[in-house]
Amino acid sequence: MAYTDEIRELVWKRNPGEAEFHQAVDEFLNGIEPVVQKHEKEYRDGMLLERLVEPERSISFRIPWVDDHGKLHVNRGYRIQFNSAIGPYKGGLRFHPSVNRSILNFLAFEQIFKNALTGLSIGGGKGGADFDPKGKSDREVMAFCQSFMTELFHYIGAREDVPAGDIGVGAREIGFLYGQYKRLTRQFEGTLTGKGIEWGGSLVRVEATGFGLAYITEELLQYYGNTLQGKTVAVSGSGNVAVHAAQKAEELGARVVTMSDSGGYIYDERGIDIQAVKEIKEVRRGRIREYVDAIPSADYYDGANVWETPCDVALPCATQNELSLDSARLLVKNGVKAVCEGANMPTTLEATEYLLSEKIPFLPGKASNAGGVAVSELEMAQNAMQTYRSFEDVDSQLQSIMKNIFRQLREAAEAYDMKDNFVAGANIAGFSKVARVMKAQGYV
Ligand code: NDP
Repeated sequence: MAYTDEIRELVWKRNPGEAEFHQAVDEFLNGIEPVVQKHEKEYRDGMLLERLVEPERSISFRIPWVDDHGKLHVNRGYRIQFNSAIGPYKGGLRFHPSVNRSILNFLAFEQIFKNALTGLSIGGGKGGADFDPKGKSDREVMAFCQSFMTELFHYIGAREDVPAGDIGVGAREIGFLYGQYKRLTRQFEGTLTGKGIEWGGSLVRVEATGFGLAYITEELLQYYGNTLQGKTVAVSGSGNVAVHAAQKAEELGARVVTMSDSGGYIYDERGIDIQAVKEIKEVRRGRIREYVDAIPSADYYDGANVWETPCDVALPCATQNELSLDSARLLVKNGVKAVCEGANMPTTLEATEYLLSEKIPFLPGKASNAGGVAVSELEMAQNAMQTYRSFEDVDSQLQSIMKNIFRQLREAAEAYDMKDNFVAGANIAGFSKVARVMKAQGYV
């Protein structure tokens, strides 16, 4: 049996029912197959893949909290510390009712290779809870965050594990989490990133994932002799990543015509008014359908599939497996020229394979959404040195990091005779680095 198939069997057996984790491992193993064939003896001798697919540490804990009516609730929290070969564990916290071990294993696993691609010194981790911040008061969110951190703080630290935000964890939640961390440890240190600018945060961190996605999309298009200028772009989601990807795409001359949430999507032929979306989502914490109240010429499609919209470039920025094979077929039929993932694993495996077979330029999230974690690392460095860098300085480093990621993908794919397969390129480049370091550090 091929070594990669043995690893599939091991992961399936050891983590039964973890569909998302299986999917992430499956895609990864497909991508690194040629590297494994080349180094099989060395990897087998060191049980490298067996070690790679097993988290170094996996923590789950109880989170009791009281709502505004005095009712007690109990949620489950997690932190998966997957791999610290190249640096302290780094990866976001997700608060969403769907959160479970499978989703966090997939996210933490992907994070290892994403972080390696940034060229910075950060390992892979992820955490969160099956808590839904939607519809909760600020006091309820604070009570939950404080209870969550009361357990999590035992396992994190500026040189050990540095969480950030993800779905459901934005500036408000990071504030409450950091406040409680500081209270418990009596340390003002950079143990969370995405902090406010006045208390250790980095400029550009809020925008970084979305801006980075737009920058690397521009790189991809330029590689094919094209640019974002004048392109019609469909964006899904309307959270942190979606809003800033749309903003930068528009600044680079594109016309972004859609945004969505789990209720439906909006279509604005003239180009989405980003300020109107920010007002709805970030200030009022409302729903995307409210956009048509502010911009009556736009349309709202309740419960509909955003990918039915004809576009040149598709940027899925909501959540995992939101772009199915049927949606990929629709995009191709409507003439899509590139698909670049802002969310983590938003495209199903079948849809990814179909897009690659149709030769649609495709960037996987573990490369194209790495801008957020990259700027998080820059925030860690600023905290360690007690300095602040300007917006322009951080933004220009973000651009060069995204350029460098694209170069690595291209070169890794070419080195293994898979020119323009950036999914394979991302897996090969990220994995090769982690594998070299794990070998150097011995059997740990
Ligand atoms: P936010 O919570 O800010 O926004 C999430 C958006 O996705 C919302 O519009 C939300 O709609 C939508 N969404 C979430 N779950 C679903 C679902 N099951 N079905 C349909 N829509 C859904 O999250 P982020 O923007 O931070 O994260 C989006 C994606 O980007 C995630 O995959 C995340 O892991 C990834 N990512 C985020 C990074 C960051 O820096 N924030 C870094 C790298 C990756 P609704 O409000 O209706 O739920």
